[in-house]
Amino acid sequence: MIRFAMLGSGSKGNATLIEHGTTRVLIDCGFNLKETEARLLRIGVEPGSLAAVLVTHEHGDHLAGVGRLARRHRVPVYMTYGTHRVWQDPEVPALVRFSPHQQFTIGSLAIEPYPVPHDAEEPCQYVIAAGNGAARRRIGILSDAGHISPHMRAMLAGCDALMLECNHDPELLRVGPYPPSLKLRVGGERGHLSNEQAAALLAGYEVERLQHLVLTHLSETNNRPQLALAAVRAAIGGEHAGLRCAHQEQGLDWAELA
Ligand SMILES: [Zn+2]
Ligand SMILES: [Zn+2]
Repeated sequence: MIRFAMLGSGSKGNATLIEHGTTRVLIDCGFNLKETEARLLRIGVEPGSLAAVLVTHEHGDHLAGVGRLARRHRVPVYMTYGTHRVWQDPEVPALVRFSPHQQFTIGSLAIEPYPVPHDAEEPCQYVIAAGNGAARRRIGILSDAGHISPHMRAMLAGCDALMLECNHDPELLRVGPYPPSLKLRVGGERGHLSNEQAAALLAGYEVERLQHLVLTHLSETNNRPQLALAAVRAAIGGEHAGLRCAHQEQGLDWAELA
C-alpha cells in the first residue's frame, strides 16, 4: 500500500510525505525543526524514520527546514545540482545531487523528477511510483510552476493521485494587495499556477483513474478554496470523490491508494 500526507501547504511552508511499506520520504521541508517534528508526530511519523528528503527548489517555503532536519535526524538530502549550488545551508550528513531528467530509486519507491518553469536555479517536481504490473501506483506532484509544458504533461499522465498547485485566482491577484512587481512574478511564466492553469491540465486528463486529487499551495491572499475547487470542477465536468484542498496549517491527513 502506498499513501501520502502533507504537513502543510502554501507560501508559509510545504512538506509532503510518501510512504510505501517501510520506505518513507519527505518532499520539501519549509518548516523549522520544532514545527516539522510536531507536524510529523501529529500524523504518527518518527522523524528519524525518513529515508530521504527530496527537495524541489531553494525557496524558503520548501527548503528552509531541510538542513536542520537532515542534521538532527541524519536524513539524506536529494536535490538538483542547481539547487545545491545556491543552497545556503549545505552541511548535511548525506547529500545526493541529480539532474532533473534522471530517475532513481529510494527503497521501494521509484523517483521520477521533472524540470518545471519557476524562478529558481534548477527547480524540479516529482512523480513517485511503487509496485509492479497492475499493482503499480503513481503519485504526481506539481507546485511552483509558472506554466505547464508538454514535458510536464507527459510526466504527469496516468497518475493515480495528484497533488496539484492552484496558487491564485487571477482576478484576486489583480485587485489584491501585492506590489505590481510581485503580481507580475506570481502570475508570470516562471511564477505559480493559477486555478485556471491547473484546471487546464485536467481537461482531457484521465480523471477516472485518480483516487485523490488534492489542490495545493493555495495563496491565502490571492485565492479561496471554493474558487480553486470550482475551477477544477468546471474542467473535469462535475464532482470528483477524491477532490479536496490541502491546508497551510492542517496540511492533509494520510490518503491511501487502493
Ligand atoms: Zn512554494
Ligand atoms: Zn517557489
